[in-house]
Amino acid sequence: MDETRVLTRNIREGREPVWRAEYEAAGGWEAFKKTLAELKPTEVGELVKEAGLRGRGGAGFPTGMKWSFMPRFEERPEERPAHVYLVINADEMEPGTFKDRLLMEGDPHQLIEAMAISSYAIGADIAYVFLRGEYVECQRRLQKAIDEATEAGYLGNDILGSGYNLKIYLHMSAGRYICGEESALLSALEGRRAVPRHKPPFPAASGLFGQPTTVNNVETICNVPHIVSNGADWYKQLGAHKDGGTKLFGASGHVNRPGLAEMPLGTRMGDLLEHFGGIREGRRLKALLPGGGSTPLLTADHLDTPMDYEGVGAAGSRLGTGTMVVMDETTPIVGVLKNLEHFYAQESCGWCTPCRDGLPWVERILTNLEAGKGHPGDIELLELHTKLLGPGKTFCAHAPGAMGPLESGLKYFRDELAALIPDDSDTLSLTEPANTA
Ligand code: NAD
Repeated sequence: MDETRVLTRNIREGREPVWRAEYEAAGGWEAFKKTLAELKPTEVGELVKEAGLRGRGGAGFPTGMKWSFMPRFEERPEERPAHVYLVINADEMEPGTFKDRLLMEGDPHQLIEAMAISSYAIGADIAYVFLRGEYVECQRRLQKAIDEATEAGYLGNDILGSGYNLKIYLHMSAGRYICGEESALLSALEGRRAVPRHKPPFPAASGLFGQPTTVNNVETICNVPHIVSNGADWYKQLGAHKDGGTKLFGASGHVNRPGLAEMPLGTRMGDLLEHFGGIREGRRLKALLPGGGSTPLLTADHLDTPMDYEGVGAAGSRLGTGTMVVMDETTPIVGVLKNLEHFYAQESCGWCTPCRDGLPWVERILTNLEAGKGHPGDIELLELHTKLLGPGKTFCAHAPGAMGPLESGLKYFRDELAALIPDDSDTLSLTEPANTA
């Protein structure tokens, strides 16, 4: 299956970036010029809403709707706060996810142009890119693109004589997974400890430094110039199922050609796996995480699933970041779950008890099971944890996200997990303390 290259149209083998002259020669920065010349800020938002763009960071929240929550000050400029912010979440730490890095390294001007249009749409005068700490090459390339754009008059004061002002800054994360949660990200950007805040208020009402703020993912925002240039109908017809547009799908793990590919949203899961060369050594698929560590597992029974928000949802999982972690039939599921829960336990910010103490307990039960030291009742105890750490039981989505793969692992591979408990074990693990090594 061929790729549909919209966001990746300028990206070359080896990721040698496209700088300003080349980007402009390929039509770059035209969408921003068109926006300033022809569209009111709210009209850009309407266009994005009509196109049906949904967040590509993992949650799939409708972008145009999120923008519409921003307070408008065109009619009452005297009430405008000192600053209104756009913050790009580029803290790409989701397990198995490496799509935003490609966009930032390969075509940095695309993100900067997208930020300029999106900032104009929501009335922001300052925009930040919150970058994963390890993405130093992205930092270097984005800074060069910002400098080039400033030199060309696309950023700064009175941009292209429009009266619109915008400055863009990069911020390197100090490096915790929870910084990717938008309210923890805002705390980190303010220089405070990266713990999530209560929502509501959502960032549009009270975001960075308490001011109106929109937080969007890199890939999400990179769609915006293309929607402005080509229209909402063009965008919608790019999709292959219910949702419009393309998606950067990825595959890591047991496929023959791991990597990334831009395909229509809603492409069949089996076709995507084929695009990535199929399962290694002619083996069969056992399970996959469709879009990062927190998306419930799917199996070979789901190969016909259309990979969009609705399709993966109907199959009992979530599209998440759309970057699949693929496991062949030789993979012990206990090891997969233990590794994931180890990651989530380590990355818990420690704010609330179920997450701080529950995740290490889950990890310990799985470690024991893997080592052949499980106990009768362990499966039921894991099941209980999926409820105790589930949605609504913790301060943020970290622990409920961690329960996604566990719950689906118990659903599809219960017998395999139960078979790990030795016949001669008679101690109930319910009595075992959580944090003993
Ligand atoms: P969420 O559903 O709480 O929020 C998603 C977005 O929608 C946020 O911007 C939020 O402000 C907005 N929103 C939701 N409800 C709203 C409302 N009622 N009013 C106004 N705005 C509203 O999800 P989340 O916790 O931000 O994200 C979870 C997802 O992020 C998971 O799928 C996870 O896999 C993914 N994730 C991705 C990465 C990555 O590297 N890309 C890292 C960590 C997590």
